[in-house]
This record gives sequence, structure tokens and C-alpha cells, in this order.
Amino acid sequence: MAKYKLEYIWLDGYTPVPNLRSKTQIKEFDSFPKLEELPMWGFDGSSTRQAPGGSSDCMLKPVAVFPDSTRSNGVLVMCEVLLPDGSPHPSNTRATILDDPDAWFGFEQEYFLFHDGRPLGFPEKGYAAPQGEYYCGVGYKNVGDMARTIVEEHLDLCLEAGINHEGINAEVATGQWEFQIFGKGSKSAADQVWAARYILVRLCEKYGIDVEFHCKPIKGDWNGSGMHANFSTKHLREVGGKEYFEQLMAKFAENMEEHIAVYGPDNHMRLTGLHETQSIDKFTYGVADRGSSIRIPHAFVNNGYKGYLEDRRPNSQGDPYAIASRILKTISEVPLS
Ligand code: ADP
Ligand code: MN
Ligand code: MN
Ligand code: MN
Repeated sequence: MAKYKLEYIWLDGYTPVPNLRSKTQIKEFDSFPKLEELPMWGFDGSSTRQAPGGSSDCMLKPVAVFPDSTRSNGVLVMCEVLLPDGSPHPSNTRATILDDPDAWFGFEQEYFLFHDGRPLGFPEKGYAAPQGEYYCGVGYKNVGDMARTIVEEHLDLCLEAGINHEGINAEVATGQWEFQIFGKGSKSAADQVWAARYILVRLCEKYGIDVEFHCKPIKGDWNGSGMHANFSTKHLREVGGKEYFEQLMAKFAENMEEHIAVYGPDNHMRLTGLHETQSIDKFTYGVADRGSSIRIPHAFVNNGYKGYLEDRRPNSQGDPYAIASRILKTISEVPLS
């Protein structure tokens, strides 16, 4: 038997962007605990905008578990929030995702690292050198001395946690980075994105760095941050076809506002039609078109309209649960022939 440190992580009730919250409980297990072995827990919902003070109990239901290599016998436990009767709390967007083990998502999470209220690489006054050489850049003048240390440490912690990172890169603005996470099953990638965000924000504490997830933290000719959502279903991968694809895109067009509503706040600041985006009030799709709402990879068309699609509209502050939920809902509205 060993005593494990179980870090229960959940999303609070703040809007439009929930905060990550967590607390530790110690429990004994023979070996690293499986999800089924982890008990339900609770917290004071009146401190997280999830319950009134007079009836403050909310429940935590473990839904995904990851080793935490920053602690001896450490465990990260992603949780859903439930009401005392066991039904999903209104803030629980994960519970709204249709169950589909064959739905796959790949999220490209962009973010800024900030110090003293400005991006790494920005001088105390004024601006850093204009964009151009930062993207996938190397060297002190492009990435400074702090960012890569954090990004590399974050990557290692995530891989040690079993999070399915597919890659990382320095982005177009200074201090801006990206990681990509892929998962099979309608909730898996989103669980992993939230866990990876948690690991990043916690890691940055010791460096005195803030993670800025806002989609347009610096005004002017500086890229915003997105979280492109790549998605496919079994039908899209194995059957597809031009007719189905066109029906699907018509449904996405019809639901444009419902999608934008859950693609992250302040997205009008980012979806301007500039900086590799489409305007927030237009829905378009195009092959290899990074100025479209949805980019169709060349391989998709070459394979007979089969494969995955990239919705470029979700932003860096979006909730991947709500995003996956909306995408699958729209897909479900198109009949399969
Ligand atoms: P880019 O920056 O050119 O848009 P990335 O390599 O950063 O491309 O991201 C591509 C994303 O597509 C990755 O997150 C990957 O996991 C995802 N992806 C690849 N194949 C599929 C698939 N069949 N279904 C869903 N997502 C996929
Ligand atoms: Mn990318
Ligand atoms: Mn990117
Ligand atoms: Mn992309």
C-alpha cells in the first residue's frame, strides 16, 4: 500500500470563461489507482459561483486520470461537477457531449506567456520587433530565455501524464506558443486539453509567469490565439462523399451563431478576416484555405471527401467540452444516407 496524492480538478461556475480549480485528498492504494477506484468527492460551490451559501454542496465525479510526475505518488483527476442529486450541474459542459467512441478530435491550443502584464519578449515600454521571425523561431532574439524552458518542461510533464500531445511550436507573435492534442472518443481530447492547461498554469507559478489564454491580448498587428478544432466521425472517415459533405457544411452554415456562441469570448476581436481567419459573421469553407471558417485538407478531397475537417473558429479561451459538444450536435442533425 502507498499513500497517493489525488489532485481533483474541476471547472468552476465563472462566465464566460470557467477557471480551473483543484484540491488534494490522500488515499491508500496498492498501485496507481484506476478511474473506477477513485471515489466521488465534494466542494463548497458557494466559493466557485456554483451554489448558494445556504445549500453549497457540489459533487465531483472523476472522469479521467493522469499520473502527476511533479509529485511523489501524484495523480491528476479530471472531474465533472454534479448536483447533490447526481445530475449534471448546469456548468457541466462535458455532460452535454454526445457519447461517440468513434468521434476523434485534435485541438491546436495557442496561448501567450505573460510577465508583468505583457508577453515574453515585449520591452517594459512600447512594442517588440514586428511579427515575422517568431513563428517556429529559434534564438534569443526570437524566443528569449524563459519561454522554451517552460514549454519543454510542460511537454515533458504532459507526456509523463500520458497526454497525447502530437506536437508543439512557437507561434507568430513573441511569447505565443501552441500545443496539439489528439484523442479518440468524443470526450477524450477535451479532457486532455483541460488537463494540459492545468499542468501549464500550475507549472508557470514557479516562474512567476502567467498564461494568457485571451484570444487577442495585444491589439494591433499581432496575431490572436485560436484553438482550431480538427474533427472526424466514423462516417466522415469511412463513408464521406461530396453530397454528405455539402449537407454537413449547409448544417454548419445554418448553425453558425450557435457555434460562435461556444467558440470562446471576444472572438470578434480575432475573427476579422485578417491574420489567417474568416470574419465572425461569415461562414465559408475551402480546400487548404486558412482564411475560411472551415479548412478542408487536400487529402480529404483526394480521398473522395473522406477524412477530417478543421474548424478554425474556436479561440484559445474556448471550452473544448462545449466546442466538441456543439460540433457533434451539428453533425448529428445531418441524416446518414
Ligand atoms: P495546422 O497547424 O496545419 O492546422 P496541426 O498539425 O497543428 O496543423 O494540427 C492538425 C491537427 O489535426 C492535429 O491536432 C491532429 O491531431 C488533427 N487530426 C489529424 N487527423 C485527424 C482525424 N482523422 N480526426 C480528427 N483530428 C485529426
Ligand atoms: Mn497548428
Ligand atoms: Mn497555430
Ligand atoms: Mn490549424
